[in-house]
Amino acid sequence: MMTMKHSSTALLLLTCLVMGTGQAEPVVDDGAPRFPTLPMTLTTAETSDTAKRSLADASPEVLADELVGQLLQPVPAPQAEPLSLLGATLAPGGFMRIDWSPDVAIAGLNQPTPVLAVNGREPGPTLCLTAAIHGDELNGIEIVRRVVYDIDPEELSGRVIGVPIVNIQGFERGSRYLPDRRDLNRNFPGSPDGSLAARLAYSLFENIIRHCDMLVDIHTGSLNRTNLPQLRADLNIPAVAAFTRGFDNMTVIHSTGGAGMLRTAAVDAGIVAVTMEAGESLRIQQRSIADGVHSILALMENEGMIARLMVMSKPRPVYAQSAWIRVSRGGILFSKVELGDEVLQGQLLGHVVDPITNDQHPVTSTRDGRIIGMAVDQVVMAGFAAYHIGFQPETNERPSQQPSAVIETFIAPDTVEQDGDYPL
Ligand SMILES: [Zn+2]
Repeated sequence: MMTMKHSSTALLLLTCLVMGTGQAEPVVDDGAPRFPTLPMTLTTAETSDTAKRSLADASPEVLADELVGQLLQPVPAPQAEPLSLLGATLAPGGFMRIDWSPDVAIAGLNQPTPVLAVNGREPGPTLCLTAAIHGDELNGIEIVRRVVYDIDPEELSGRVIGVPIVNIQGFERGSRYLPDRRDLNRNFPGSPDGSLAARLAYSLFENIIRHCDMLVDIHTGSLNRTNLPQLRADLNIPAVAAFTRGFDNMTVIHSTGGAGMLRTAAVDAGIVAVTMEAGESLRIQQRSIADGVHSILALMENEGMIARLMVMSKPRPVYAQSAWIRVSRGGILFSKVELGDEVLQGQLLGHVVDPITNDQHPVTSTRDGRIIGMAVDQVVMAGFAAYHIGFQPETNERPSQQPSAVIETFIAPDTVEQDGDYPL
């Protein structure tokens, strides 16, 4: 691929400057083709002293044409560079599976974490995909696998680095947390001499994340809650807001993110980053996985990394705010609504049924909006956050007094994102 650097405005200015030296003859437009009038092969070597002397002796028209020729000179297309990652080197057009060893385990029991990398034949941005930072969030693992193995390195412009199971210790125990009971996603960018979580975070951030131009950190709901496929992103940052528009069929929820989250630390380091939420923990959900894969491939196409002529969906809503609706009574929750449903203020969302007294407590929506996350049917205690409603700014004002069965936790804009964690 060849690129041609050419600016007609610059040419005009140059011509005017040359013609304005006082020695100039009027330009006669004889209808002859003006570009290019000189062979487009003037190289750097030819602009040496000899070339400079001949330019100095030349008439203004020749000089102008010479400069035009230089500006029209074909510039070699940038070439893809080898990718150096974790001590390995990957040539353009290649794929590799390498190990990341954060050196936090007992040395003899050290279990490296697999990293997948694709270096495209053509240059371009580096997209990183991380999943299972919470070890029980499985959908993202499969999303990363499908995206990475779907890519033909020969057809890729840029690089993709995937870490399918960041928290491999949590994954093996079916746990969200690290062995020290800390949440890894509250410890970025980490520290080389901090806690286990801080050291792990530091190693991931320094050895892998700093290679990224763009990052999608994939999560799911937690504690038997499920999330509509969605992005959480700080829309106050223009580059991040623009990035979210590259994903297809994804609801976007504005949130600045909390301290210690990978997304927040990456953005602070100048990396465009979002959190993707898809489905619920401890499950493999085909629909959520397919949605996530499609959306990331659409992003790659929109970023110029692949060309597939994908069919894009209608843009999804962007929600500036969201709120959790809690149940006020314990019992068994039975929902009447589904993920993605549009709901109206006062609409019945479900019931909490007391299995002993047979009382049925309705749970209604506190506002107009959309169900972006919700609890699966289960036994709940009073105060359990059951429905996450995204809503538009024009309905921001707090609703009037609601039925006593409903308590709302308002998630104001620019507040801490919970990345599927139990809401405050
Ligand atoms: Zn998570």
